[in-house]
Amino acid sequence: MIIPKASSLTPEQLHEVTSIVEEFGCRIQPIIGTTRSIYAILGDERSETMRARIEGLSYVQRLDTIQSPFKLMDARSDLASHVIRVGGVEVGRKLLVIAGQCTIDPKHPEFFIETAHAVKEAGAHVIRGGVWKPRTNPYSFQGDNKSLDILMEASRQTGLPVNTEVMEEEHLRLALEAGVQMIQVGTRNALNYSLLRQIGAQVAGRDTVVLLKRGRHMGPIDEFISAAEYIANFGNPNIMLCPRGTMPALEGYRSHPDESITPLLKEKTWAPVVVDPSHSVGKAAYVESCSLAAIAYGADGLCIESHVAPAKGIGDDPKQSVTPAALKRIVERARQLWEFHRS
Ligand code: PEP
Ligand code: MN
Repeated sequence: MIIPKASSLTPEQLHEVTSIVEEFGCRIQPIIGTTRSIYAILGDERSETMRARIEGLSYVQRLDTIQSPFKLMDARSDLASHVIRVGGVEVGRKLLVIAGQCTIDPKHPEFFIETAHAVKEAGAHVIRGGVWKPRTNPYSFQGDNKSLDILMEASRQTGLPVNTEVMEEEHLRLALEAGVQMIQVGTRNALNYSLLRQIGAQVAGRDTVVLLKRGRHMGPIDEFISAAEYIANFGNPNIMLCPRGTMPALEGYRSHPDESITPLLKEKTWAPVVVDPSHSVGKAAYVESCSLAAIAYGADGLCIESHVAPAKGIGDDPKQSVTPAALKRIVERARQLWEFHRS
């Protein structure tokens, strides 16, 4: 990793370092951070001669020698000063709230539009809505391309960015083309390296943010952060990590809530942690407790399922969506606790 003296390399300097590393069979991938850009050397970067030639350049501050399986996402990386901006929030400086329906019902677009306005009013900065759904049962509703138009209509009406899950390249292409600002990788695809690579490549050069859920089979912490590294090494470090509960479930809950890994993640990575209490507990009545626990553990944000009429929803909405009134209360309490925690 090349750390320049200035905030970025000039085109001439980039050209010069590129020619050097190419002599050694490597290439350069610029990673654009908020305060500075860094330049990953992709390939076998161990050649002493190559390193010496780069370190000898007057405009290079240093070559990063962090020994880490995730050099970009590592807490010691120069990207640690990178700030992700979404929905008017500089993540880490204010509690980020993502909220909305689990699933958009294409037969009832009015519910989603109403939900979008209501969650905005309750304090959400980003609206979530599932267009394509990973369902355990192949006969359950799998989502519908039509819902993408409903999602974007909600974004236009509220002026807020939207989040939706993609499960394959075609979803990704459609979502980015439509202007979805936050792409979600679900728990079932947390280890789908081919999809992670495609997302990394497609969001490079854009402001798009990726919300990466944790694999539900108790994915080890390093595995979780390494999955983020797959995306980041294409050039866009706007990645947030989302614990959402693991298996086997705690009796009475949908999953085993794992908001408690937040401090462990924060020790190892600079990436913001946005906890999903809804899939952790799986029941609307427990979402507030899990949300507040997440904040107490140091989470930077929450991703909460909410619906104006949960009983009329589809997917997870009837069982775990909170009403916008309940969401408002959760957000207010979470904000208070967040301020207290950071003070
Ligand atoms: C969802 O967000 O609705 C969802 C399916 O999430 P997960 O991948 O965490 O199950
Ligand atoms: Mn859901």
